[in-house]
Amino acid sequence: MSETHYSQRLSKSRFVAGCQCHGLLWSKVHEPDAPELQFDRATQDRLDQGTQVGQLARTRFPGGVLIDLPYYELEARVAATASALASGAPAIFEAGFMADGVFVAVDVLERADGGFNLIEVKASNSQKDEHLPDAAIQTYVLRRSGIDVARAEIMHLNGEYRHPVGELFQRTDVTPQVEGLLPGVPDEIARQLEVINGPRPDTPIGPCCFEPDKCPFVDRCWPSVPDHIRTLYSVGLKTAWKYMQEGIDTIWDIPPDRRLSAAARRQLRALEGGAMIVEPGLAEALAPFSGRLGFLDFETVGRAIPVWLGMAPWGAAPAQFSYHEESPDGSISHVGWLAEGPVDPRPALAQALVEACAAADRIVTYTSFERRCIENLQQSVPNLADPLDAMKEKLIDLPTVIRDYVYHPDFGGSFSIKNVLTPLVPELSYDELAIADGKVASVEIARLLLAEDTIPADERHQLRRDLLEYCEQDTRAMVMLVRRLRELAA
Ligand code: SF4
Repeated sequence: MSETHYSQRLSKSRFVAGCQCHGLLWSKVHEPDAPELQFDRATQDRLDQGTQVGQLARTRFPGGVLIDLPYYELEARVAATASALASGAPAIFEAGFMADGVFVAVDVLERADGGFNLIEVKASNSQKDEHLPDAAIQTYVLRRSGIDVARAEIMHLNGEYRHPVGELFQRTDVTPQVEGLLPGVPDEIARQLEVINGPRPDTPIGPCCFEPDKCPFVDRCWPSVPDHIRTLYSVGLKTAWKYMQEGIDTIWDIPPDRRLSAAARRQLRALEGGAMIVEPGLAEALAPFSGRLGFLDFETVGRAIPVWLGMAPWGAAPAQFSYHEESPDGSISHVGWLAEGPVDPRPALAQALVEACAAADRIVTYTSFERRCIENLQQSVPNLADPLDAMKEKLIDLPTVIRDYVYHPDFGGSFSIKNVLTPLVPELSYDELAIADGKVASVEIARLLLAEDTIPADERHQLRRDLLEYCEQDTRAMVMLVRRLRELAA
């Protein structure tokens, strides 16, 4: 089978994309090199973990046969599947079938009394509605190929699992939902085949742009007008779409009597005046930010297949922290801590953390994630539960102060640390850092700790430096932001 033929067919992933939007399907088929479709490191890691979950799932089916052929050799995969079926294999992995211009590879086809169980493996912690078209197209193609699919299942991770006790996987029967979708499948296949064999369809924007997942082409398809309504504070694509249905395309179209949050109102005033707004009361709001003031930030490792005691699938375990401390005389000290090797880092991290923060009167954080990390540590390191509890009592939230008292026109409707830092502290930036994103940091820490052997020694040292620098930048940014806020309050 040539690449050309492959490009003219549907697959289960293409069908699922087409169910979201025909424009998205067309782009996936005809412009796979589009920048929007390239995976960043965090997305690639997620996909790799999905592959690992799929491979582990196969171990639950003893005697199963893997159809292990190149993805584009469709006829050979179908033929190998037929042989495996004829041989009486109890389960076939990546079982290939083709019908009506659609090729599907079933994650697990399990022989069962009176037919077969079709099993789609997902790396999520639960079964979701978005899995159903995937199972439906496979059921359709298999039945058209003469396979008696008695049951369709999603085999997903068990969100209740705590490593290493219990069963990591759960199987959810979705047969009734799939049967409900099947009558619509032939027409949808016909429409999608027409789409991929024609010019790019002119698909209107709408809920398909954010349901079930945010489409990567939003920036291309949505209007790029200044001050679009989606740049209003706390307005995501879904709410923006609702506004647009009312004819409100930009923030200047908002009727004056519309109820808005105080922060959104402040944003409008700042944009109207073209200048930063600082509300009276900022000095009082900053009163708790005094004494010996700590600034804390964690980075975590989250794996689909948990590796450390008590971890849930995708559970986040703290593996790095940065802590700055400002003394009343204005002097600053810093502690950076990053795990080493594959052992559970939480006991050593918790010990280092408790020691680092012992003298602080208050500890500043930028997200509620830090509180959750401390709670995670309390559970996993119970002998330090009390000092960690005391630490939790000291936490104070910096973004709330900014959100309630300050708006700079360049915040862009967001109070994330990266959005507020440049407008308020232009001399500090993440631009020069090798790692400048928390999700990438998490992936790299996982690589450093759990796949150290795959990284050359010199690269390993550099990676550690990059990670330490990134985390330190987060707490340094908070120190500088508090100083800037004090200046503004004065
Ligand atoms: S942004 Fe919306 S309209 Fe554009 S391809 Fe994606 S889903 Fe379709």
